[in-house]
Amino acid sequence: MALERTFAIIKPDAVAAGHAGAIIAAIEKSGLSIRGLKRVRLSGDLCKGFYHEHVAKGFYQELEDFMTEGPVVMMCLEGEGAIAKWRDLMGATNPANAAEGTLRKQYGTNIGRNATHGSDAPGSAAFEVSYFFSAFELV
Ligand code: UDP
Ligand code: MG
Repeated sequence: MALERTFAIIKPDAVAAGHAGAIIAAIEKSGLSIRGLKRVRLSGDLCKGFYHEHVAKGFYQELEDFMTEGPVVMMCLEGEGAIAKWRDLMGATNPANAAEGTLRKQYGTNIGRNATHGSDAPGSAAFEVSYFFSAFELV
């Protein structure tokens, strides 16, 4: 397995509910390293660029409304196989289908309001990390 970086978001639902600390604790316990972390509020334009692959889809406006409704916590995570490892910790997109003990099962509400984001491949991870973090913020 290779040392990878991936991009993670604690979405507005989980931040508002006070679950950011528990999610960060789960990341630290998993062995993934946090290389960058910040709390920000997305604009619609930033959200469109980030979710460019979904902009034309039927659920996009609802997704943008959700992702901009309040602050998020975003992170760059690093570790062996970090992309798959973080996706495994999160669980399936729809919390109803997510395995017991996963973050989306514990903290998600439905397929839209699902508590966390994680990059799905090396290409999207590289794009997403660089979209939100500059080099000096990754330490
Ligand atoms: N989403 C949604 N409805 C859908 C599919 C996705 O609202 O039918 C939202 C959900 O918040 C999801 C995000 O759009 O996390 C991105 O979708 P994707 O299929 O990339 O899922 P993910 O990679 O986040 O598991
Ligand atoms: Mg995705």
